[in-house]
Order: sequence, then structure tokens, then C-alpha cells
Amino acid sequence: MSLGEFDIIARYFARKSTRGDVLLGVGDDAAVLDVQPGRKLVVAMDTIVEGVHFLADSDAADIGYRAIAVNLSDLAAMGAEPAWMTMSLSLPRANEQWLSGFASGLFELADEYNVALVGGDTVRGPLVVTVQIAGWVEADAWLTRSGAKPGDLLFVSGIPGEAAAGLAVIQRRMLGGEAAAFLKHRFLRPRPRIALGRQLRTVASAAMDVSDGLITDLKKLCVASGCGAQLNVDLLPESAAMRELFEADDGLQYALAGGDDYELLFTLPPDRAPAVLSALQLEQRVTQIGVMTLGEEGTVQCLRDGQPFRIKRAGYDHFAAGDQGS
Ligand code: ADP
Ligand code: MG
Repeated sequence: MSLGEFDIIARYFARKSTRGDVLLGVGDDAAVLDVQPGRKLVVAMDTIVEGVHFLADSDAADIGYRAIAVNLSDLAAMGAEPAWMTMSLSLPRANEQWLSGFASGLFELADEYNVALVGGDTVRGPLVVTVQIAGWVEADAWLTRSGAKPGDLLFVSGIPGEAAAGLAVIQRRMLGGEAAAFLKHRFLRPRPRIALGRQLRTVASAAMDVSDGLITDLKKLCVASGCGAQLNVDLLPESAAMRELFEADDGLQYALAGGDDYELLFTLPPDRAPAVLSALQLEQRVTQIGVMTLGEEGTVQCLRDGQPFRIKRAGYDHFAAGDQGS
């Protein structure tokens, strides 16, 4: 049963890619990739740690899926098309059943987006998965956090808060039929918004993905753009599943401060917004939730029924005092 490092790589990760731009993949000392002229490379890396980014008893396939999803979400936020990835895998033990589940979740999402695993590293240690994804954008434009202007309209994709609610369903072992299953799935299987990012690439003034909580991440966008934002809580898209299982106030808390959404937050100049919105072809909704303001850099003002609204707890920060992780 005990697999060597070489067997692990050969059996689970050395898969031939159908991508023509992988000149040399897994098996040599490094990968060689064909980069087309006239495009820019976009590179992102994310690490997920057992007990911090996923629960200790998580299904192996869900862990593999998540390792890719969180990285693809970053590429989506840049307006990039993903192409290649490398993976550093730290494993406490070489369990075949676990490895096969992990690889199935990993390649399920990688294949969907035609991302080739071209190299990596495999070591013994606590369960930690680091994935680096590279992709490309056309040379003329990519998305950044820093281009929003006062007056730009603020949008979010999907329904923020459902993932955090799904985590609560899992942690509290809540029953609740279809609604509970739906929310769990939203936490376990985030959908990277690659298609949305690609369509926003030349039209959004700013974009980022929401992973640490809507308000916390909106603040980052505001700081990068040198402006403020007003977030109208009444405009947040409602989740039927959350309404069924949670008090309205808890739902609001998840939407504003819960992590793991992996939705896109973006801004559009008001004159351009109607045409952009009507041209979007999407598998999820996008909702205007506020507007960028002249307010002090990095300040997010929340309004509910026109009145200032304060949330109980801000978003997730790994190094904030007393934070336990999500
Ligand atoms: P080296 O010792 O030269 O760094 P390794 O023995 O670590 O090489 O890896 C052998 C090959 O397997 C390399 O091509 C490497 O990129 C690949 N590899 C190792 N671990 C992984 C992994 N977890 N996923 C994908 N490829 C991997
Ligand atoms: Mg080597």
C-alpha cells in the first residue's frame, strides 16, 4: 500500500495534456511552455491548508477541486484565460483512495477549463496544497482592482453569503433537505467566474474576486482605486436556500462578512453599464449592490433603508488577533 513519491506522481499526476502549448510537461526537471507573442502572461498562486481553508475531514475530491477553484477565481478576476498549472502537494501519508479522490476533483475542474498540470512537487508533511495557475490575456487589457472611479456602479456576481452559510450547515450538522444540500455544495464546489471575467476584461473599470468576505474585499478594491464605496444592503441578492434555513440577520452577516464566495466584485462606468449588462452571457446573475464614492480612500459605507448599517463582524484575515480561520 505504501507508495513512493515517484509512484504517486506517475499514477495520479503525470497526465498527458491535449494542449498543444505544453512542449514538455510532468516528468522532466521543469516544464517548457509555448507562449504566444502578443499576449500577456497572468500568474496566480494559492495555498490551501487543512483546518484553515478546508475542514479536516473533507472529502479528498472536494479538496482537489478547491485547490484549483481558488486559483481559477483569481485568474477570472484578471479577465484571463487559464492554461497551465503547477502544484506543490504536502501529504501526511500516501493513501491510494485519498489520492485517487483528490486527483478526480482536481482534474474535474482543470479539464473543464482546459488547464494542464505541467509540474509540481510532492513531499511528506501536513496536508497543504499549493497550486500556481498561469494563463493569458490579450495584450490590450486586463482587469485590476485599481481602476474604479467615484460614480462607477458596483456589482457582484452570484449570491454572496451562500458559501459561508454552507459552511455553517456543515459545521453545525444542520438538516434541511434540498436547501442544506444546495448551500453545502456552494461552499464545497465554488464556480470560478472565468466567463464573466473574460467578458468584463475590456469594459469593467475594476474587478477582484471575493474570497475573504464582501465588505473586507470591497475595502481592498477601494484602497487600490483610491476612493470609497457605498454598499446598499437592500440590493443584495436574496438566497432562497438561506432564507429557508437562517434568520434574515444571520443571512445578511454571511453575505457581508462570510468568506469563500469566489464571486466577482466589479465596477462599471455608469454610462457604459446598461449596454455591458445587456450584452453579458452568464450562468449566474450579476447584481448592482452600490456605487463608488468620493469618500475617504478605503471607506465602505453600508446603508440599509437609507440608514447607516454596521455589521457585527468583519471578514476573514489570517493574521488578525483572535481569528480562528474559516
Ligand atoms: P526534481 O527532483 O527534479 O525537482 P521531482 O522528482 O520532484 O523532480 O519531480 C519529478 C517530476 O514530477 C517533475 O516534472 C515535477 O514537476 C513533477 N511533479 C512532482 N510532484 C508533482 C505534483 N504534485 N504534481 C504535478 N507534477 C509533479
Ligand atoms: Mg530536478
